[in-house]
Order: sequence, then structure tokens, then C-alpha cells
Amino acid sequence: MKVAVLGGGQLAQMMALAGTPLGMSFTFLDPAPDAPAGSLGRHVRSGFEDPEGLDAIGQWADVVTWDFENVPAASARRLAHQVAVYPPPHSLEVSQDRVVEKEFLRSLGIPVPAFAPVDSNESLRRAVEAIGTPSVLKTRRFGYDGKGQRVLRVPADLGAAWAHLAGTPLVLEAFVPFTRELSILGVRDRDGATAFYPLVENVHRDGILRRSVAPAPGLTPALQALAETHMQRVFERLRYVGVLAIELFQVGDELVANEMAPRVHNSGHWTIDGAATSQFENHVRAITGWPLGPTTVTGAVGMVNLIGRIPDPNAVLAVPNARLHLYGKEPKPGRKVGHVTVVAESHDALARPLAALERLAQG
Ligand code: AMP
Repeated sequence: MKVAVLGGGQLAQMMALAGTPLGMSFTFLDPAPDAPAGSLGRHVRSGFEDPEGLDAIGQWADVVTWDFENVPAASARRLAHQVAVYPPPHSLEVSQDRVVEKEFLRSLGIPVPAFAPVDSNESLRRAVEAIGTPSVLKTRRFGYDGKGQRVLRVPADLGAAWAHLAGTPLVLEAFVPFTRELSILGVRDRDGATAFYPLVENVHRDGILRRSVAPAPGLTPALQALAETHMQRVFERLRYVGVLAIELFQVGDELVANEMAPRVHNSGHWTIDGAATSQFENHVRAITGWPLGPTTVTGAVGMVNLIGRIPDPNAVLAVPNARLHLYGKEPKPGRKVGHVTVVAESHDALARPLAALERLAQG
């Protein structure tokens, strides 16, 4: 099976690390000469809209996928005339625009924060009147890791937030007073079979994921079932194939959707070391038409992102059961350069090694 990936970042790298032992070969389309996945397959150095590059991978591949959701949807659609493309390109169009995404989720009965599109100072004023504060002003498109966001704590913050973000379509969202942040990851194969991982508890700082714990501590069957019901609706509406992630706010017993990612997801990296089948293996199995693997988790799993710096590997690996994953990227402030996972028998037993890894990650 020949798999082409739009994007050659760490997610593509981990897809290839999962698919290669299954006999799959990989090509990555990425303009960056030092794309992390480059050494694990063929690297086509071209822009994501370059017809020559797209045709080259379209002719070679049995199936095309991507590792980031800002892939131009038109490129995915162009490839879909030539070759199987999974997830369906339409899922990019939905997830790339926060207003379209929220309307889509709401149409499926999935709760989302109150929101209003904003395209002028005047419409921001009206949106703040309708939604109130605290609220969050975000760019509709191309936001990731908390980039392109301003919190409005009081209505008077409107001017500064507008000055910071004006010039691009925006959305104002009610600030959700969440108990905690969660995500659900699931996978659907070409025949419509699905599998779900347990809800993950996520901690963000400065809009970037820092730590995930799976299963989310105190997870009840009812909350898991609710998240799976939401995801199943998205799967069916999009006739989805591959891994999907939905980021959620837990508010009491309720789940409010923040955003969805039609791809493998950072909050699922723990599955490499902590689940019977990783998200990466299940993604490549799903898109190539193979059966899904079990998503069973035994014990408790913690994942810490390495952001902006690589700690001493000797110290990381001295933590019992720690697993180090480095992406081969040059450390820069705010850049994800690796992650560490630790698997323990219980959440209680996880607390110490996880805290030790967090300290090492912070330096
Ligand atoms: P996003 O880029 O939308 O995933 O936002 C990054 C992070 O900002 C989230 O994981 C939350 O921690 C925080 N955040 C974003 N939107 C909201 C919201 N409407 N209410 C509360 N926190 C938010």
C-alpha cells in the first residue's frame, strides 16, 4: 500500500512509523527541506497548491491523507479526482472555518459556545452585546495552538482585541467556564466500522497542549457514551474515514465542543505506548481499507509535550516507564519538538512519574 501524506511534520512521521511495519510505503509532500517525516519515505518538496507536486503524489499513491488541517481543501479535492483521499476533503472545509465548524456541530445537536461572526468594529460591538464577557475573539481560519486569539474580560477590552486581530474574518465566542478540557479520538473505517479511545483530559498553557492523561481521571461510562454519540454523528454526516479528534470543554456533566480536527491529534500521542493500537496505526489501517485494531487501554497513561526545548534524555529515561519521542526538529520557542509518555497501573501510580516528566519538560 502506497500512502501519500500532505504535510511531513511529526504526525506524518508517526503515521509512517506505524504503517511501515505493515508493509506500507510513504511519500510526503512538504515544502520544508527539513520536514521531520522526510527520512521515512520519499519527500516531494513542493507547495501544497503546486499542481506538479500534487500530481506526482496522486499518480504514485493508493491513498492520500494529511497531517494538518490547514491543507488547502482545493488541493485535497483535486487529488480526489485521481486517487482515494481520506478523510473526505469536505471535512477540511468544515474544520478550517470556526463559524462553519460551529454551525455544523450545532446542526448535529452537539453543544457549542454561543458565537457570532465578526468582520468590523461595529459587528464586534454587537457581538459583545449579544454574547457578553468574558468571551474570546478568534480568527475564523488558520488558528492553531492558541494563535490568533484574544480574551475579552470586560466589554472595554473590545478596542484592544479589535486592534490586535482586525483585517481577517473573526468569530466571537462565549468563554466557557469549563471544569476541565477533554478530547475524544475515534476512528471510522471504509466500511463504516468505528472504534473510540477513552476520553482524554488535556491541560493547555498559552493555548498549547502541555499534558494529556488517559483515560480522563474519574471518567464515567455516561460521559464516554455522550462523547461517542457526538462523534458518531460527525462520522455519519461526513461519511468519515480515518482518525478524528474533537476537543471538548467539560462543564459539570455536559460536553461543549470547542473544535474538531480531521486527523490524528496531539492529545492521542499517548496511544503509541498506552493503547492496544495507536491512533497512527488505526488511521493508516482505516484509510487503506484494513480492519481497525482494538483501542483498549490498560492502566493510566500520561503524555507531556516537549515545547521549545529538549530536556536531557538521560534524565527523562531515568523516570521509570518513561518513553521519549523526539521529532528531529530544531527547538524554537513555542515549537513542539517531542513528547514523553508514561504508563502506570493506576492514576494514583501515574501522578509521580508524570509530575517528574512535567518538571523536566519545563526545565
Ligand atoms: P483553540 O485554538 O480554539 O483550541 O483554543 C486554545 C485554548 O484556548 C483552548 O484549549 C482553551 O484552553 C482556550 N479556549 C479557547 N476557546 C475558549 C472558550 N470559548 N472558552 C474557554 N476557553 C477557551
